[in-house]
Amino acid sequence: MPSLFFNEEHEILRRHIRKFVEAEIAPHADEWEKARDFPSSVFRRLGELGLLGLRYPEEYGGQGGDLFASIVLTEELSRGQSSGLPTAVAVHTEMAMPIMLQFGTEEQKQRFLVPGINGEKIFALAMTEPDAGSDLSAIQTKGVPEGGAGPASPEAVAAGTHWIINGAKLYITNGCRADGVVTAVRTSPDKWAGITLFLIEKGTPGYTVAKKLDKVGLWSSDTAELVFEDCRVPSANILGQVNAGFFHLMWELQGERIISSAAAVAAGDRALELALKFVNERSAFGKPLGKLQALRHRLADMATDLEAARQLVYTTAWRIQQGEQVLKEVSMCKLFAAQMAFRIADEALQMHGGAGYMEEYLVSRVWRDCRALRIAAGTDEIMREIIAKQLGL
Ligand SMILES: Cc1cc2nc3c(=O)[nH]c(=O)nc-3n(C[C@H](O)[C@H](O)[C@H](O)COP(=O)(O)OP(=O)(O)OC[C@H]3O[C@@H](n4cnc5c(N)ncnc54)[C@H](O)[C@@H]3O)c2cc1C
Repeated sequence: MPSLFFNEEHEILRRHIRKFVEAEIAPHADEWEKARDFPSSVFRRLGELGLLGLRYPEEYGGQGGDLFASIVLTEELSRGQSSGLPTAVAVHTEMAMPIMLQFGTEEQKQRFLVPGINGEKIFALAMTEPDAGSDLSAIQTKGVPEGGAGPASPEAVAAGTHWIINGAKLYITNGCRADGVVTAVRTSPDKWAGITLFLIEKGTPGYTVAKKLDKVGLWSSDTAELVFEDCRVPSANILGQVNAGFFHLMWELQGERIISSAAAVAAGDRALELALKFVNERSAFGKPLGKLQALRHRLADMATDLEAARQLVYTTAWRIQQGEQVLKEVSMCKLFAAQMAFRIADEALQMHGGAGYMEEYLVSRVWRDCRALRIAAGTDEIMREIIAKQLGL
């Protein structure tokens, strides 16, 4: 049956990624979980296979595909038995690099985007700080033009100056391994029109990875605290306009949230699959668990929940692709899909009984990994705030 959203090319891509994940990702998942890391060479391999540039223009080494190609990648990487790796890849391809493509100069695209697409460079995006997460307008990491303590001005940029950056960023995915971090920096006191995006490169004096953070889940992805102390960054590394960073990030967050929603649907899929397998294999009171009505009905609800999220996410992605502004719907996708994934994962774990709480059973990993989806890329509460505002409240 032809899909409304995926064409033959998407299906070929899906088969290609599935084979790769089965052969080169899934067999290493346990080892990478235990190591709390995966080798950065995986990025180079993904780049070699063209998977980091699926929806980037061919002139920069991309495949020239669409948003549904990114969704296929998200769905198929979720079969790799750990969500750490797909999260790291999504931060690189769907958070950091879109900013370079949309707002970067030609020179920046050659310097950053091209090596990002071929997997030679890995990127992160740093917004969150110890005292500012949901409220991006409250960030305090500060940048001043070298030799002057005044607020940033376009003239200062035109003068080709460097900037001195001081501050800290928290919970930064890829923070330990990144070759460059797209960093939100306060360059003027204006709450919203006072943030600038800098690409801060590894090795820049004053830029340090202060700490690798231990997480509840997503063990194989690295999450870091970054510190900038008198970090000297050239104007040539400013992405987009000075003092327009907040608005650039509001644009970026829409793409990030639709992919995060697709990741939630994929997590729900994995949880339901595991639950179905288990209730068919395990018996209690003389029959398979799957024949117990109490469980059958809950499984039917889980499948319905999952399908509702899937259709909402695909339809919203299709509307984005048509160029529509769908702020409300993207926020609904993120809220509904993230909650759905955790509900289903929690039910799936419960149906496994004691086994569900054991590390040996994959369902426990799906459960702890998908909890992050209700926090990262904007919390449930912030999604509700956006939706309420769009309802005129
Ligand atoms: C696994 C993981 C990876 C992450 N990766 C990155 C990354 O790569 N880059 C990055 O910049 N950040 C990253 N983050 C950070 C993430 O975006 C923030 O944690 C999130 O935005 C919430 O910010 P906060 O932690 O400061 O919580 P706070 O903003 O302090 O919120 C605390 C609680 O208050 C609620 N709250 C806040 N404001 C309101 C409001 N107006 N109304 C109602 N409730 C409210 C929140 O919903 C939350 O429940 C990551 C987080 C996690 C868990």
